[in-house]
Amino acid sequence: MSVTASYLAYLVSSVCCIMALRGLSGPNTANNGLRFGIAGMALAILTTLALHEVQSYGLIILGIAVGGGIGAVIAKKIEMTALPQLVAAFHSLVGLAAVLIAGAAFSNPEAYNIGTPGDIHPGSLIEMSLGVAIGAVTFTGSIIAFGKLQGIIPGAPVVFPGQHPLNATLGAVLLGLIVLLCSTGSPFLFWAIVVLALALGILMIIPIGGADMPVIVSMLNSYSGWAAAGIGFTLHNNLLIIVGALVGSSGAILSYIMCKGMNRSFFNVILGGFGGEAAGGAAAAAASDRPVKIGSAEDAAFILKNASSVIIVPGYGMAVAQAQHALREMCDLLKEEGVKVRYAIHPVAGRMPGHMNVLLAEASVPYDEVQELEEINRDFAQTDVAFVIGANDITNPAAKKDPSSPIYGMPILDVESAGTTLFVKRSLGSGYAGIDNELFFYDNTMMLLGDAKAMCEGIIKALEQ
Ligand code: NDP
Repeated sequence: MSVTASYLAYLVSSVCCIMALRGLSGPNTANNGLRFGIAGMALAILTTLALHEVQSYGLIILGIAVGGGIGAVIAKKIEMTALPQLVAAFHSLVGLAAVLIAGAAFSNPEAYNIGTPGDIHPGSLIEMSLGVAIGAVTFTGSIIAFGKLQGIIPGAPVVFPGQHPLNATLGAVLLGLIVLLCSTGSPFLFWAIVVLALALGILMIIPIGGADMPVIVSMLNSYSGWAAAGIGFTLHNNLLIIVGALVGSSGAILSYIMCKGMNRSFFNVILGGFGGEAAGGAAAAAASDRPVKIGSAEDAAFILKNASSVIIVPGYGMAVAQAQHALREMCDLLKEEGVKVRYAIHPVAGRMPGHMNVLLAEASVPYDEVQELEEINRDFAQTDVAFVIGANDITNPAAKKDPSSPIYGMPILDVESAGTTLFVKRSLGSGYAGIDNELFFYDNTMMLLGDAKAMCEGIIKALEQ
């Protein structure tokens, strides 16, 4: 393939990637977005394979077969709730690839047309050193994030005195080494940067609690994009630069959206220590002394059937229980009874943005019944029943009333304004933020204690009778 044709093909591929991101921004257009993404990536791979620099296809095909095979099996088997750790694991590979490519280019610069050993072009040294530093931080940081989310290493923050000053000093030393490498081209400095950045990746992520990991995974996603863009400059590959920049900026925007949804600053997340097991235990203990209304599936069916409007509020527990199909079936029965049913989605419900939308779409819930917080929040006051399923923090009035609460200022769904609030969860325990939820004890609240899927199935049975 000629150079001009490959540039053109890469340009088309980049446009497909941009269209993919655009499509993925809404449920109605998500499928088309995916098609654009697949087309863009297929064109990019085929174009690369057709380049005249490719000397043998054997290893490339073997790599695609092994990597693609492993990826396909994992993607088929993975549970929705395990997606954050899968993404973290995949990001670690992007970081590792950036380190390996930079290492190869540094050791054999002639092969990459960037100079000779000991005399690499200064521009290439800058791109390479930034790419390798970001790649190494992404690699070890993502492995720690994966370990915490998967429960292989404890999710609790690992903190020690002087941790943040130490990280800041190491970051400053890393920058200093990058500047020195760019002026000397010393191999020792190159590998010192790799080692220091690997250590920094671990030290930066260990103080962050497991529950804050989704924000961190998204941040690491951003890093992996910038690492890829850096390496794209080294390889003179425009597509890698454009796609790396797209991943880098979209990951950064996603982290920002999550922080905004939680009303927390990014530094607050990075410095760690939000929520935690001790707070959760305290909340549950305090909760056990107070009177609370507990209902059964039959009680819930009776209340729901007699309502004229119901708003469903799904949360993380629905994802854990995989209750979305049973929930939709329950809502279908209610609609047959003439009940108006809608779904209210909080921007940080679940553990990643769009988590609830994806689950509801999987269960074929009509898109027009699914509304965002700003669209639906005022309607709770005119609604008979708010059916909160596996959600907790996103409904907690402490976010509005208690300035000392860690979630104070976070926008919440005003479920308490509904005539009755039904809460499906297994206990009176806390959610992600590890704090008590006053709503459980309100007069118009009824707790439906049990697994979300089993509770929906129980309500379906009662409705059918
Ligand atoms: P929460 O974590 O606040 O609450 C989920 C509730 O689900 C728990 O209290 C738990 O209670 C219940 N639950 C768990 N398993 C089951 C089950 N099998 N059946 C029924 N209930 C179950 O989740 P929310 O969705 O309300 O809020 C999301 C939280 O995550 C927010 O604090 C947000 O800031 C945070 N977050 C969100 C991100 C995002 O992008 N979406 C990113 C990072 C953080 P019990 O154990 O009693 O059953």
